[in-house]
Amino acid sequence: MSRNTEPQAPDAALPESPVAAQLRSGFRWLRFGAELEGAYRTDWYRERLVYLRVNLSIALLLFLIFILASRRVMSADSQAVMNLVRYSALIPSVVLALTVTFLKDGRRWYPRAISLLAPVALGAIAVLVILGWSHGQPLLFSALVLAMIAAYVLIGLQFFGAVTANLLALAIFTYGGLVVAMPSEELAYNVLVLLATNVIGGAVAYNVEHTRRHEWLEGRLLVELAELDGLTAIANRRRFDRELTRHWTQCAREQRPIALLLADIDCFKAYNDLYGHQAGDEALKAVAKVLAGSVRRPVDTVARYGGEEFAMILPETTRDGALHVAERFLEEVRALGIPHAHSSAVPVLTVSVGVGHVVPAPRRSPAGLIQLADQALYAAKDAGRDQVRLLASEYEHLQTGYFRRQPGGNDGAASQ
Ligand code: GH3
Ligand code: MG
Ligand code: MG
Repeated sequence: MSRNTEPQAPDAALPESPVAAQLRSGFRWLRFGAELEGAYRTDWYRERLVYLRVNLSIALLLFLIFILASRRVMSADSQAVMNLVRYSALIPSVVLALTVTFLKDGRRWYPRAISLLAPVALGAIAVLVILGWSHGQPLLFSALVLAMIAAYVLIGLQFFGAVTANLLALAIFTYGGLVVAMPSEELAYNVLVLLATNVIGGAVAYNVEHTRRHEWLEGRLLVELAELDGLTAIANRRRFDRELTRHWTQCAREQRPIALLLADIDCFKAYNDLYGHQAGDEALKAVAKVLAGSVRRPVDTVARYGGEEFAMILPETTRDGALHVAERFLEEVRALGIPHAHSSAVPVLTVSVGVGHVVPAPRRSPAGLIQLADQALYAAKDAGRDQVRLLASEYEHLQTGYFRRQPGGNDGAASQ
């Protein structure tokens, strides 16, 4: 969240998320920070796996056609050693890559597999071209040009993987050309063609991958922003609902308790009336900042529940632990020392906190937990504000999911 509590330009509320930071810092080397890079690749391969199958099948078909064509343009006695290269390196590498796409864990293995198999296939083609040349057939050279372009655009290699595989093939070709004593003008010209192929293929691949990465980051940022409160830059209600359902399900599965804190700023209408809505907004931001700083574990979620109400989800947390967090938050808000001359509690801005604490059971629901926390919050308000109240699962008569507030206030609410 934003650290600035001064009035801000609209985009200053942008989240300080890894995605936003990555977009700002750029990625000219086509690499994100470790966490994002992993997520990007996972998403990319998940999305592309079916296309890769098609592309690899096309590559395999083209190889077979080129093998038949090169047999036609070459003498039969030249074929033995060439067949060895074709059927021990070239074809198996494509078949293996294709097989990996069908593995259960293909998404994880394909990147590694293709970064090993592509140099093998390209190297094999370079060897075949040299063998063809040494048997008097220079026509095969064009196949290497095509294969290098395919390495950039067809088989799901990241940019630098494709560059590495192609440069290796170029080195093999150059070395082979020297070994078979290709005339230096011809060798130099061929190397020039291959370098140009790599410049063109590389430029296309770089641009495509850069655009793809940029779009992926923008998509992630959009999702993040859609779940962020515009004023306080903490999670909004949409995110809160999603997280509560997720943690509820997980705690239900593991039969672990879950705590929900609902915090409401005391006498906030009076605060707005006295100090103005802009000051009210600043106070909301300050409280949100304290709330965000009061969680210690990454699984805990803080959110703006609505208006001047905030929520905190604490999965797998004991009743005492939840009370401790609530108390600490309450004290930290009071310690901000934001003057509130018309508060009915103390002359500074304070919050009341209701805590619901249950072990999810089939007859209970997340909505019931919210009602429980809400009821505890009402009890804290009724008891004079600026305090914490907790309702827990041991109050079995309060059937969460069905519970309604009793008229008159704090019955059933347990103080800390
Ligand atoms: P209580 O102690 O019982 O909670 O009293 P309260 O005045 O805080 O509660 P009430 O529900 O009467 O008023 C809530 C106020 O919160 C009214 C509304 O103007 C203010 N508020 C809600 N959202 C915002 C906001 O985004 N900005 C500002 N400045 N005020 C807001
Ligand atoms: Mg309220
Ligand atoms: Mg209030």
